[in-house]
Amino acid sequence: RKLRLMIPGPTPMPPQVAEAMARPMVGHRSKGFAEFTAKLHAKLQQVLQTKNEVLILTCSGTGGLEAAVANTVNPGDKVLALVAGKFGERFRDLARVFGAEVLELAFPWGMPVDLETVRAALKAHPDVKLVLATQNETSTGVLHDIRGLGELCRDHGAVLAVDAVSGLGGVDLPADAWGVDILVTATQKALMTPPGLAMISLSPKAWALVGECRSPRYYFSLEAAKKAHAKWNTAFTPAVSLFFALDAALDLILAEGLEAVFARHRLLGTAAREGVKALGLELLPPEEAASPLLTAVKGPEGVKVDDLRKLLLDKYGVLFAGGQSELKGKIFRIAHMGYVDRVDVITALGALEMALSELGCKVALGGGVAAAQKVFLGGV
Ligand code: PMP
Repeated sequence: RKLRLMIPGPTPMPPQVAEAMARPMVGHRSKGFAEFTAKLHAKLQQVLQTKNEVLILTCSGTGGLEAAVANTVNPGDKVLALVAGKFGERFRDLARVFGAEVLELAFPWGMPVDLETVRAALKAHPDVKLVLATQNETSTGVLHDIRGLGELCRDHGAVLAVDAVSGLGGVDLPADAWGVDILVTATQKALMTPPGLAMISLSPKAWALVGECRSPRYYFSLEAAKKAHAKWNTAFTPAVSLFFALDAALDLILAEGLEAVFARHRLLGTAAREGVKALGLELLPPEEAASPLLTAVKGPEGVKVDDLRKLLLDKYGVLFAGGQSELKGKIFRIAHMGYVDRVDVITALGALEMALSELGCKVALGGGVAAAQKVFLGGV
């Protein structure tokens, strides 16, 4: 059976990235690897749209989030956590682990963060030092308004930390221009690289917090990472093969062009949404907040989402994600991020139609596919 990964990470790998993974090992303290890292860094700054140093940590995305918190939060610091899904919760929990006094703003799962509520909270709590936000909330398929949050945090003087693990490289996030002080992302989603690296960049305002931070850290010390970075090195042995892979993936993104990559994802997102709506299914988020990278769909009446996912995988080789935490069993998620194109979305919708039909749902075969095709041909 041919596996078609349509989950929000790990995502499919382009052949160029797979080839790069197979390159022979080199010494990570060699001159050649330092030269390679310097070039990789320039590409990362372009894709992360920042002039700040981008530090690469060998860990998953959560390690990057932990590094963000461990290096900036002192016990008792007031931290505002914006929570509208599982990953917002994770960032909040990390702040709690490091002893922050967490002020949580919770929004319904599937809805975007409401800026007026954030504005009011910042006004009521002038001592908030750090705001934790999620760009693309993978558990709900909602894209949050980071630009708006950037303005609010700038006005307030708080440092804005953004979990861009599942959005970066697929949707526009001009970090410096929008006032993102701490940007965290990871390799395995829109960046089309296997899991295992997190990237983090900090503005001068965020580095000032690092200087004042006394929380324990060792592997995740950003001072240590920065010191090594100054010599195009890493503090510890990096995942060398993943560096090669990431470099190949960034080459692909830059060759396509950032704007074109973002436009491709917008188009795929629109087509996926039109497709599922044409099948009579309901989206979880309101359309205007829906992520272009990930379509979260409510399970149809009378069908168990897990049965649907199992049939799709076992019979058609199409892997969709299920719901997480409170959305478990209630939604399924179709990811279209990274190395994906129009035919991938059509394939996913075609398989979905067959599986729904086999489970007894009344669907017009071809209806979802046709709706997506119309988007691709410019009809919507
Ligand atoms: N944040 C977001 C928004 C994510 O989607 C994920 C992964 N699903 C993470 C954080 C955690 O990343 P990892 O699983 O690589 O630790």
